Amino acid sequence: MKCPVCGNEIDYPSIKDWQFNDYVVKRYSCNKCGTTFNSYSYNGDEKFTIPKRML
Ligand SMILES: [Zn+2]
Repeated sequence: MKCPVCGNEIDYPSIKDWQFNDYVVKRYSCNKCGTTFNSYSYNGDEKFTIPKRML
């Protein structure tokens, strides 16, 4: 998985994991640009959202 902002490879564990409806949400913090983002997984599909406070 890569940081959606700078493309840095995230090869370390998520900060936090939780369930949101049918999604598994994992929160990561990029160690290069400092962006905190969530990864939502559902049936193997994964997409990112970036918390607005970080933009
Ligand atoms: Zn980054």
